[in-house]
Amino acid sequence: MPVSYLSDLSLDSTLLRNGLRVLLVYPNTRDVAMANLGFQKVYSLLNQIEGVVCDRYALPLGWKPETESLEREAVRSIDLKMHPLEFDVIAFSISFEPDYLNAVLALKYFGIPLDRDKRDASFPMITAGGSAIFINPEPLAECMDVLFIGEGEGMAERFFGLLLENEDRDRFFERAGSIPGIYLPQYYRPRMEQDLQVGVSVLDRVPPRVVRHWVEQEESLCTHSILHDEESTFKNMALMEVTRGCIWACRFCTAGFIYRPP
Ligand code: SF4
Repeated sequence: MPVSYLSDLSLDSTLLRNGLRVLLVYPNTRDVAMANLGFQKVYSLLNQIEGVVCDRYALPLGWKPETESLEREAVRSIDLKMHPLEFDVIAFSISFEPDYLNAVLALKYFGIPLDRDKRDASFPMITAGGSAIFINPEPLAECMDVLFIGEGEGMAERFFGLLLENEDRDRFFERAGSIPGIYLPQYYRPRMEQDLQVGVSVLDRVPPRVVRHWVEQEESLCTHSILHDEESTFKNMALMEVTRGCIWACRFCTAGFIYRPP
């Protein structure tokens, strides 16, 4: 499958000027980020969408959660050296629960308000996906504009294709809510009675229940290393996905369940 590497795309100033600029963020250190096959897959998937240019970002080596702030140079994207605020979309790739907290810290380092209501359209659209998000998106629901529920293949192309057609963000959200797997938390509000949540109120424009996006044809998947990064924990290895999910389905483990048909 042909893959557009960003180092080539960086020469295409027209695409950079007129295309949709997406910053894919792995909210952990670069050695961990570049060893993650899911992150690499989404990076290549986004760069294959016509009109989209995707750069990547991970926290610097040696970073610790107690770090209060980062130097301006340490928040620049890896290839284009752009500040996160210069992108149209910031997409977090979250595979593990501790990275929820790191994503919040990353937004703070980028100078982006955590509360969705405090951001207007002058800020990048803030999104998140990955296996942790589709197991439980709620910890980040007040913070994110969009959460991707399910596997990226098939969902990312529809979402970003639609975004390329719609410049007005509100108009875009109205249409994006009908894409399977797209969760727009601002349209789903907890219904409370005497401090207890008794249900969820859903605005008319979105489905009452978000359906997890599921890749039906496994044979169409071919996930392998795309980036060969000297900082990666697996820098001397080529990675390949040999199975998605797990057939053994131990009751305590999500791997056996989250890739099944919804
Ligand atoms: S623990 Fe999870 S990954 Fe391991 S065999 Fe059971 S279902 Fe599969």
